[in-house]
Amino acid sequence: MKKVKKKSKVIYSSIITCPVCGKKSFNISQVLDDIPHFGEVLETFAHCDSCGYKAHDILPLSEKRYPIKQKIKISSKSLAYRVIKSKYCTIEIPELGIKIQPGPNSESYISNVEGVIDRIIDGLKRIKTIKEEKKKEIEKLVKKLLRIKEKGGATLVFYDRTGQSAIIEKSN
Ligand SMILES: [Zn+2]
Repeated sequence: MKKVKKKSKVIYSSIITCPVCGKKSFNISQVLDDIPHFGEVLETFAHCDSCGYKAHDILPLSEKRYPIKQKIKISSKSLAYRVIKSKYCTIEIPELGIKIQPGPNSESYISNVEGVIDRIIDGLKRIKTIKEEKKKEIEKLVKKLLRIKEKGGATLVFYDRTGQSAIIEKSN
């Protein structure tokens, strides 16, 4: 996955008590990013040197936020479109019957369309099952996703009731 270039500025950085292990080894930093065609977002990164607990959050700073539903055709061109995915975002690829709803462990991230597909593939590969049928089903789905990355032919849908997600239909 290509790393997305962004203008960013660290505005806060500190070491505090870890909410998980209680040691004073929780590194927290806040970064202000200016995402072209979207606006400013405040990203919080945190990790604990003792227990390894990690946290990440993205908060868009623009004022008006309303539910969004965005659909794009996956193609060699749109793979590079930048995405902002909040933890409230539902991701769908209807042609494959994929619908990923936000759960309590839902992550927020900034990436591109290719990165979203890669994350879906990673998620599928992490599913542990002993059922042979289910294994085959997952393998098939991974193959289909890889084919879509190469040749397109499917739709990516973002739905976010908080409006904090976006697919930005430009490459930079
Ligand atoms: Zn800790």
